[in-house]
Amino acid sequence: MRQTLVMGNWKLNGSKTMVAELINALKAPAAETTNVAVAVCPPVLFLGQAQALLTDSVIALGAQDADIHTQGAFTGENSPAMYPEFGVHYVLVGHSERRTLHGESDAMVAAKFSAVQQAGLVPVLCIGETLEQFEKGETQTVVERQLHEVIAHSGIEALANAVIAYEPVWAIGTGKTATPEIAQGVHAAIRGFLAEQNANVAAGIQILYGGSVKGASAAGLFAMEDIDGALVGGAALQADEFAAIIRAGA
Ligand code: PEP
Repeated sequence: MRQTLVMGNWKLNGSKTMVAELINALKAPAAETTNVAVAVCPPVLFLGQAQALLTDSVIALGAQDADIHTQGAFTGENSPAMYPEFGVHYVLVGHSERRTLHGESDAMVAAKFSAVQQAGLVPVLCIGETLEQFEKGETQTVVERQLHEVIAHSGIEALANAVIAYEPVWAIGTGKTATPEIAQGVHAAIRGFLAEQNANVAAGIQILYGGSVKGASAAGLFAMEDIDGALVGGAALQADEFAAIIRAGA
């Protein structure tokens, strides 16, 4: 039985005031929905503040990225080994904005996945196809290639302690959500691909959907057999909308 996980990716948004207001507003809905796990990924500068605010909360903390190195001459980077001190549990790896805007290759994402696990954290591996790839019917090929690189690097068993977020790039921040049926088809195919290599890993892994999820669309997505929650961007910045998504998973 996989628990529903609702995770907010705040991207490059926030201020000390906003972090305090948003976290305080989410504590009650997260505490009330005991069968839904909730996590937020603020910008790294606010992790310490978020950790302090979350000491008495069930909401888990995530980071949006990590370097492959733990320390050294890597100016501007954030080490996965430093995150545990800030109470971080999850780390997004391979978000499409990192792949597109920062040129992260599948090999780099696989190295980050491994570095995050070695720091004792849970990677949230983001995969998904572009609009062009979707229109050409290449979704399955693309997500399998993205998964294969991680499996080749870390082994299929490594996915027993990870989360997958299927995020079609054409749905991220565009207001276009994949229909529950389209998303379910891809999620089932991802699980099937993993099952060919390890049935237990495939059955246990949480596969989140991401791409313009809102309170109104969440329940339909969560009703699907292979959709185990959501990675939420824009709507995660609005307490009422994010709370509605959390409640949709209850
Ligand atoms: C995301 O950035 O992971 C995301 C899904 O964003 P949005 O919900 O805004 O599409």
